[in-house]
Amino acid sequence: MPLQPTCPFCDGARAEETLRVTEMMYGTGETFTYVPCATCGTVWLPDVPDDLGPYYPGDYYSVDLDPERVLGRPGVRQLASTVARSVLFGSGRVAATARRVVRMRQFHSYVTVLEGIAVAGMPRGRSTRVLDVGCGSGLMVYALALAGVREPVGIDPFAPTDRVFDNGARVLRRELADVEGTFDLVMFHHSLEHVPDPAASLSLALDKLAPGGRILTRMPTVSGEAYELYGTDYYGLDAPRHLAVPSRAGVEAVADRVGLRVVSVRDDSFSAQFWASEQVRRGVPLMSPHSHMVDEKASVFSPAEITAWAERATQLNATSRGDQAAWVLERA
Ligand SMILES: [Zn+2]
Repeated sequence: MPLQPTCPFCDGARAEETLRVTEMMYGTGETFTYVPCATCGTVWLPDVPDDLGPYYPGDYYSVDLDPERVLGRPGVRQLASTVARSVLFGSGRVAATARRVVRMRQFHSYVTVLEGIAVAGMPRGRSTRVLDVGCGSGLMVYALALAGVREPVGIDPFAPTDRVFDNGARVLRRELADVEGTFDLVMFHHSLEHVPDPAASLSLALDKLAPGGRILTRMPTVSGEAYELYGTDYYGLDAPRHLAVPSRAGVEAVADRVGLRVVSVRDDSFSAQFWASEQVRRGVPLMSPHSHMVDEKASVFSPAEITAWAERATQLNATSRGDQAAWVLERA
């Protein structure tokens, strides 16, 4: 891949400083050189490996969650559907109650994603045309179909094949440029930080927006307490998969460059910004058997530590200091 000489978000020049970031999802031991933007503070990987395929193996977290097995199985399907309807088309009270009862981290993540989508809005109700770019296994389009949304579409160039699910949701193995039709909501759930040119991706998304349509992008950001605390050990850099991790100013700048404007920003960070970064600092890969992500019981952290970090994340979200957020964009 060509060198990315300027900031992928604001197009500014790099600072002199270089950052050595180690691959810590699998613990391959490789290090990569990132650079900060002198203008907006975004951190990016200027020299992208030619083939990123090996860094997305079959157990990569976004592709190994088969939606029909995870959300569609008996006992789960009803809860997943009720919660999704509550957040997207109801008062959200059912989801709030379920959040207090269910402890599983994946469930909280599920509700958080749905809340971000609800903020972006479903302008045509269940007929809202939704496109999820970089959808992985298609978990979120499957969830939307469980909520009654008609035929939501996900695309992912790393999807093994095209697929139609039992509830009408679809995953297509393709790039954004090859998608036909227009959409009321185009979503990038932790995918824009994986593409070499986020401005080009947003511009393509804008081309596919129906009048009044919106773009939702959820991403990590270096404009938070976690990056300040952990620096190159901040797990959200995720070398080399994350090609750029934007600052908040960088997101404003990229929107402006392509003819979009930021409507709202909602921080949705959680405890991982601390425990995963602590693991990186201690040399424990996120996919290792002792990782909190893999096995909470084998984790080196106590439940009290995790709870304290979760509470800290809630405080940071309330003050726009979290390490990830959901941005809603519309045509400027
Ligand atoms: Zn920049």
